[in-house]
Amino acid sequence: MPGTNLTRDEAATRAALLDVTSYAIDLDLTTGDKTFGSTTTIRFTCSEAGAETFADLVDATVHEITLNGEPVDPATAYADSRITLTGLAAENELVVRADCTYSRTGEGLHRFVDPADDRVYTYTQFEVPDARRVYTTFEQPDLKAPFQFTVTAPEGWKVVSNSPTPTPEPSAGDGQGGAAVWRFEPTKPLSTYVTAVVAGEYHEVLDVYHGKHGDIPLGHYCRQSLVEHLDVEELVKLTRQGFEFFEEAFAYPYPFGKYDQLYVPEYNMGAMENAGCITLRDEYLPRSRQDRSFYEFRNEVILHEMAHMWFGDLVTMKWWDDLWLNESFAEWACYHAAVEASEFTESWTGFTNARKNWAYRQDQLPSTHPIAADNVDLRAVEVNFDGITYAKGASVLKQLVAWVGLENFLVGVRAYFQEHEFGNTEFKDLLAALEKSSGRDLESWAQEWLQTAGVNTLAPEFELAEDGTYASFGVRQTADPDHPTLRRHRLGIGLYDEAGGRLVRRTSIEIDVHGDHTDVAELVGQQQPDLLLLNDGDLAYAKIRLDERSLATVVGGLATLDDSLARALCWGAAWDMTRDAEMSATDFVALVLSGIGSETDAFGVARIPGYAALAATLYSAPENRAALRSTWEQGLRKLLENAEPGSDHQLSFARAYAGAAHSDAALTDLERVLDGTLTFDGLAVDTDLRWTLLKGLARNGRADADRIAEELERDNTISGQEHAAAARAMRPTAEAKAEAWEIAMVRDDVPNETQRSVVLAFQQYGQDEVLAPYVEKYLAEADTLWERKGTQRASTALEFIFPKQLASQELLDRVDAWLDSSEANPAAKRYVREGRADVARALAAQAKDAQG
Ligand SMILES: [Zn+2]
Repeated sequence: MPGTNLTRDEAATRAALLDVTSYAIDLDLTTGDKTFGSTTTIRFTCSEAGAETFADLVDATVHEITLNGEPVDPATAYADSRITLTGLAAENELVVRADCTYSRTGEGLHRFVDPADDRVYTYTQFEVPDARRVYTTFEQPDLKAPFQFTVTAPEGWKVVSNSPTPTPEPSAGDGQGGAAVWRFEPTKPLSTYVTAVVAGEYHEVLDVYHGKHGDIPLGHYCRQSLVEHLDVEELVKLTRQGFEFFEEAFAYPYPFGKYDQLYVPEYNMGAMENAGCITLRDEYLPRSRQDRSFYEFRNEVILHEMAHMWFGDLVTMKWWDDLWLNESFAEWACYHAAVEASEFTESWTGFTNARKNWAYRQDQLPSTHPIAADNVDLRAVEVNFDGITYAKGASVLKQLVAWVGLENFLVGVRAYFQEHEFGNTEFKDLLAALEKSSGRDLESWAQEWLQTAGVNTLAPEFELAEDGTYASFGVRQTADPDHPTLRRHRLGIGLYDEAGGRLVRRTSIEIDVHGDHTDVAELVGQQQPDLLLLNDGDLAYAKIRLDERSLATVVGGLATLDDSLARALCWGAAWDMTRDAEMSATDFVALVLSGIGSETDAFGVARIPGYAALAATLYSAPENRAALRSTWEQGLRKLLENAEPGSDHQLSFARAYAGAAHSDAALTDLERVLDGTLTFDGLAVDTDLRWTLLKGLARNGRADADRIAEELERDNTISGQEHAAAARAMRPTAEAKAEAWEIAMVRDDVPNETQRSVVLAFQQYGQDEVLAPYVEKYLAEADTLWERKGTQRASTALEFIFPKQLASQELLDRVDAWLDSSEANPAAKRYVREGRADVARALAAQAKDAQG
């Protein structure tokens, strides 16, 4: 039984047989709030007379199927999410009339009623295989065709799709009025997964970009209740900067005519690159004060989706094996464009502080995989939207750009767009273009970096002469025994000395590292520096180690290092060493408390306190924990007090303090900030910060359901509802956990984003007694959750509600026994294995912290 799966082989067979001429899709959004009408007409040719194939359609009531004018009985032809098509002719026309189901999980056509004003909003989300939840498809990226959408919707709605929005016509046969029809022109050839329809009572702002290849109409959309937060001038500015940069860099006019960006509710991801019709999560329209990392990231998201218009939508992967390339290219391009064309000129430092850490973490989980994953079917693809596919892929692509040279890289990419426009490709097609433009053989590079998994560790290895100079110097490379590949790395090595109260770079060299030991003759005779920094300039994808003296320098004075990228590498090295049980959690917390106050990188300020919080609670030895948590809490209180009024530091420390607060004094502080009797100069206690403070209280049993309901009354929006659900789930009582469990794991009527909020809030540090029963409950659910709840709900729950906070040998043993005996779906087992790995890591780190 294929279920909703589709294998690569099935897709290849179907692509060999068919050529799709066109899709015409007629959606009726006026038939109720549970289902909508969906009529699809597909014209396609078939290379083998009389052959058989299938079309895809999920969760539909099929009323009528006609193939080449002949009726086909849905009762026999539609089964298992597929419509069997037999006796195909050279030219075919398939018509399927069905009712499809609105989604509450963000997959397919999601329908949302805004609690703020009862207005209705819908949008589609199709990647990977969910267009088939909205219309009848051949659901694979290499069967491209022009799409013609016709949408019937309440008059007064905005309806947006891949083609420019037409003037709506009154709906025929609708005597009372109230409905209208939008007939969109056919699109350029597209893959199903980048088609889109967004319809509802959206607010619309139109603008235009006058570019070197002509005008591009721009639209920005959001819910009516968010209009005051739509900072449209800024968004238009970022969009224009992006178009100007990419049209120049890619030397290819923007291919899809107009560009709409729609900020939509209850969105699962950051954004989606539907051709000319970008959807983005509407949390990107800030209703409360946000720090610079928020705006830096939003800019990257906007540029990421825009890069996909060329790389992904104009030229599209043949099958999901090249998902990594699709995402990695967009990632590399968005950081490159941010640095070159926007005010966020230090975006690569943020990449190091945030994205690369994500990649390193993911690459050390048991589920790690080669960047070029072997995606044999849709099941395999759906769990690979991970730190390998995005962040490691982008890190490695950045190396490739350095390896062939930026200009050669762009020359190759331009030729690739020209040659494959509106077509489908595989990685080898890009490699061929780059080999041609650079004259380099890239096969062995691809093998080493794309076909193998795991991250290498690079450590300095040296002897000192009596005068304090290096008598010998080398770089030691190691690998995890499960992924033993040693690779070639281009590596910067920086030597920094204390001078006049600052850490100053004396010199920096670049070398090629390969094998398990690389001699570095250039450094022999150099005086040992206070800080020896491997990977200076962050050219390599590798974990790095600090020698004893360098670590002491970092712990004593990271703040005196002026280069933000060098600091990011030191933060990263210290965090890796803590995670790998080579630096104690106690030392890491001390490092963060001493250095974070003067960190300047936006992502550094926003993210690093989160690492320290994890160190204080989960990586600390049980006997040190109370003292370390107190140090962390009190240290944050001081940082908050001393932060510059109105600064990002102040906001970041206020949030972290709310998360760390557990002493009576600190919890009283939170209450007093909330009621206005304690103020910090310049700190606006706005809606989102209020929720952060209240959650700090709820987590510690100082805010009950009534108090949370009171806050919800002040903020009765969907965000408020999600925050309230999370706050209720954080409370340390058996009743609160039982109620939260029901929402997170059992009920089907809970929307995706509310479920996610509860899942993320459920496991709290220091609630061992009330959480203990949920180990068995978790494992019991994990047996069958994937089948019962589908990809979106199941993956969210299994990843984030794993009982990590209860880290112990008994927990490891129990999980191991489950892994041995359970017949759960491999995707479900993947998440359980990852949780187990996190627990094992925590126990090792705790042992290190116990030694001091
Ligand atoms: Zn993407």
